[in-house]
Amino acid sequence: ARLKSGLSKTRQILTTDIDELFLGKKLVDDEMLEDLEERLITSDMGVQTTLAIMEKISARRSRIAGAAALKTALKEEILAYFEALPEPVPEAAARPHVVMVVGVNGVGKTTTIGKLAAHEARKGKKVLIAAADTFRAAAIEQIAIWAERAGADIVRHKDNADPAAVAYDGIDAAISRGTDIVFVDTAGRLHTKVNLMEEIKKIQRTVAKRLPGGPHEVLLVLDATTGQNALSQAKMFNEALGVTGLALTKLDGTARGGIVVSICSSLNIPLKYIGVGESVDDLQEFDAQQFVEALF
Ligand code: GDP
Repeated sequence: ARLKSGLSKTRQILTTDIDELFLGKKLVDDEMLEDLEERLITSDMGVQTTLAIMEKISARRSRIAGAAALKTALKEEILAYFEALPEPVPEAAARPHVVMVVGVNGVGKTTTIGKLAAHEARKGKKVLIAAADTFRAAAIEQIAIWAERAGADIVRHKDNADPAAVAYDGIDAAISRGTDIVFVDTAGRLHTKVNLMEEIKKIQRTVAKRLPGGPHEVLLVLDATTGQNALSQAKMFNEALGVTGLALTKLDGTARGGIVVSICSSLNIPLKYIGVGESVDDLQEFDAQQFVEALF
């Protein structure tokens, strides 16, 4: 239900009056295809992805009778993109499993870590957050509040400490305390792009030094309302760090939820979580089937 209401703006773009397109007609005609193409582009599925989907719909048009069949066909074609994605990385066999969380400031990184920590703690996992975004005192305070609420441990240094040192101490503490899962927060200031990537790479190396094989996951948080900008951020982080999973936030705030399809089809990185609101339960594990059902 949260997913459905979260995606309502996007669903509106995609489906409003779609039944009327078929009034007095049985099969899909050119006018409908044009109308659909516009809807997909308006929802931010990206031009390339849209054209590819439309080509497939066009090829099967003689077998599409009525609006319901058309929606089903669209769901199937979109689902195919998600099914082609690689499997998410499995949880590490040994403890702790380390997730390094990256993303540009403002995308919802802090809240996403907080929500994930809460989810894991609820499942009975022992959770630790390493507050390695030492550049933003406010972010550390925010994350400390989330950690306390979730009953998670937090490792923090004073402002402007060396982020890699915080990450190292976090892993160290997690190993000695028998922690199940560690979330390493990282900085996201974009005005010093090169330094930022170097800083995060250093965190990555430092984690690996203390815990060979770690970090097991590099989770990139993207803000769906930034549309194609999110796509270019993803490319930048992926080139520098090798992103293994995506979290896409604020889908509830946008009519452009098609960006999910656009990002998945162009990046080939598994989408793990989507955010459809500000409360803990609004961060959901991505389920492709449920997602397409909510879109149409
Ligand atoms: P950070 O700078 O990346 O750490 O971003 P924050 O975690 O501080 O989030 C920025 C704002 O986005 C906050 O007001 C969050 O409540 C909000 N936010 C995060 N995720 C979502 C979401 O899925 N939906 C909505 N509507 N707001 C979100």
